[in-house]
Amino acid sequence: MNKNHREKTSISPARRTLSDEACPSCGTGMIERRAQLKLPLNGENVSVPSALHLSCPKCGEVVLRFEDSRRLQEDAIAIYRKKHGLLSASQIRGIRERFGLTQGEFGRLLHLGANTISRWESGRNVQTESMEMLLRLIRDLPGSLDYLRQHAA
Ligand SMILES: [Zn+2]
Repeated sequence: MNKNHREKTSISPARRTLSDEACPSCGTGMIERRAQLKLPLNGENVSVPSALHLSCPKCGEVVLRFEDSRRLQEDAIAIYRKKHGLLSASQIRGIRERFGLTQGEFGRLLHLGANTISRWESGRNVQTESMEMLLRLIRDLPGSLDYLRQHAA
């Protein structure tokens, strides 16, 4: 049965769990682990530390499952926003809610689809620098929303 070990076990930060998926290159069973991965975002390579993915122990192939790549994208966007001092997902939602607008109404004022607003607010996409300026104008300049309403799509 279980002996009571007193020795220190070193815990690796990388989670090594066997997955039931085989490597698409060599067929070896892949291992789940965390490592730094890079993702291009607006022409910039964003480094995401400890991104969960599958790795082939034999040939080094990296595979991102659906959830892994969704998470990687969200983490990269949060890092990118912080690095460039952009409004966060919740700050954008806060601006919209302050004016009592739905995502669809807000999208029309910015000449964007409701899906774009939804993706900003859920961290699945990041606003451009020019949209960032427009969002800040709406937040900081009284009357700018009225102006946009007169020129809505
Ligand atoms: Zn392999």
